[in-house]
Amino acid sequence: MCILCMGHTTAASIPGGAWRAAHAGDTPSQVLQEYNAGRLQRFDPSRAQPFTPGPAGTWVVINPPPATDGGERILTIDPPPWGAVTAYTENLAHAQTRALTDIGAPLPGHGRLAWQLPDGQAGANPILLKFDSSPVLNAPLRFQVQSLADYLQHDADWLTFATACFAAMLTMVLMALCFAVMLRDVIYAWYSGYIVCYALILGAESGFVFHPLRWHWLVDSVNMTHAAAVALSIAFAALFMIRFCELRHYAPIFRVPVLALAVGMIDLALLRISHVPVLVDIADALFTPLTTLGASLLLLTALAAAVRGSRAAWLFFAGWVPLLLFTAANNAHLSGTLLGLDWPDQTGLALGAFEAILLAVGLADRALTSRLDRDEVRALADHDALTDIFNRRAWSEHANAALTASTSRQLALLFLDLDHFKTLNDRLGHHAGDRALVAVAHALKAELRPRDLLGRYGGEEFVVLLDATSAEHAIDVGNRLRRRVHRLEIPASSDTTFLTLSVGIAMRQAVDSLQALVERADQAMYRAKSTGRNQVVMHEDGMLMRADRPLVVERRNRTDAAPTKP
Ligand code: GH3
Ligand code: MG
Ligand code: MG
Repeated sequence: MCILCMGHTTAASIPGGAWRAAHAGDTPSQVLQEYNAGRLQRFDPSRAQPFTPGPAGTWVVINPPPATDGGERILTIDPPPWGAVTAYTENLAHAQTRALTDIGAPLPGHGRLAWQLPDGQAGANPILLKFDSSPVLNAPLRFQVQSLADYLQHDADWLTFATACFAAMLTMVLMALCFAVMLRDVIYAWYSGYIVCYALILGAESGFVFHPLRWHWLVDSVNMTHAAAVALSIAFAALFMIRFCELRHYAPIFRVPVLALAVGMIDLALLRISHVPVLVDIADALFTPLTTLGASLLLLTALAAAVRGSRAAWLFFAGWVPLLLFTAANNAHLSGTLLGLDWPDQTGLALGAFEAILLAVGLADRALTSRLDRDEVRALADHDALTDIFNRRAWSEHANAALTASTSRQLALLFLDLDHFKTLNDRLGHHAGDRALVAVAHALKAELRPRDLLGRYGGEEFVVLLDATSAEHAIDVGNRLRRRVHRLEIPASSDTTFLTLSVGIAMRQAVDSLQALVERADQAMYRAKSTGRNQVVMHEDGMLMRADRPLVVERRNRTDAAPTKP
């Protein structure tokens, strides 16, 4: 957008201009005579100029500079005023009326009103312009005379720029609507409503909706639609702000006023479109004070929430301030306070797109925060509160995923159970038992590789799934874990014995569920218990074999739990 702004076209400066308020009964020739007699108020047409209209509008006279190359020249007024404007040229011989809502005008204008000047129009031959009065306050106007080539170049620049701004706003809206539907979060809908209303306001003010969009249906109702869109944009902004800036938390005292503002603005929009004359009059009377008050309230609320630590409120503030400053500067300009200050005619559009993008960044930040919160909650839900390793549910999920991911690789499951843990609890107390469980979990974790899946299965029972591990290696790991726990030297069933671990191992078979695998490892662990504890027993192909000391292999029938010595 900045790059587009950098391209500029030249315009010949208009040597002089004069104006006065129009009254009923004025005629063009009378006004021209007054001008020639020097009775009109002078102004500099090259600067944006505010006019205070009379009951019938405003008369403006300007002297176009003499034509230098004899080519076609165009007179433009930007921004386009709301009412119709008639240009009397060649000593009142020609009169051409243009309006913002002209869909079929010979020169489309695009952000301006434009007239082609007759060849003979020169300095001594002033142009008389009659501005019809309009219910909408007009922004300060700027007059230019350009060659046709410069006019067309400026027109192309403006169209490209305006299209880019509207495209940016509508892209953000579409994205937010998708989020609103998929995340079922109404904040994205408020955002979309706000940006759509704002785009409609800009589209109407700049004439974009009439040319190139050719919205015929809006021609007769543009004033009403514009006013309703302004009121609704503030209502949507208020609703959006309540959640976006988390007012309940950061600025609770502003929450009710902001909510009341939203409701009030919706009522104002309904009054304005009611077509009941008395209600429309009430809406018109309330419109300026209420919108000014509302915009200021939102600004103040955003500032209060931002100061109290809401990051989103800073973004809202940063997007809202330039728009308000721009509106306030335009108003100050109208009242004559800021005469001489000038800004490009695309400023409003650029600020609209800037705010849409800034708030979308804020929404993305909000989505990121909620994702981080969700990750944190999930981590809390997945981990055992005491030992901070996977709990049984999370471990089972991961183990199931590992089982289905690789059907070809060898997988070993180790079932670990602390020996005589109840006695430890009874002798040293539950807290000592808890500390022992934490120490054991840390020791197991430290002994295993990061990709080994360790979990707390129950009270003093742990499980480990070893991926791509052979039976021999699993037995080694089981023994290492057993020795590591013993080396912790945690007093256990007596003052002279340390806490030990019994380990049962099962290898994954071709079609094996997690439950079946755990059951076999559990059976092997019970065998380790029943044959003396503090040892590793492997369950493989119907055999249970003690694997820590000289191997004692016990063979048994799959359906028969009673072991038989070989
Ligand atoms: P065995 O050698 O046969 O496994 O005997 P054991 O005492 O270890 O087994 P048992 O199943 O009889 O007792 C397990 C004990 O573990 C009972 C329970 O109080 C204790 N326990 C389970 N969870 C916790 C816990 O979170 N903290 C503490 N301190 N103790 C726990
Ligand atoms: Mg147990
Ligand atoms: Mg035990």
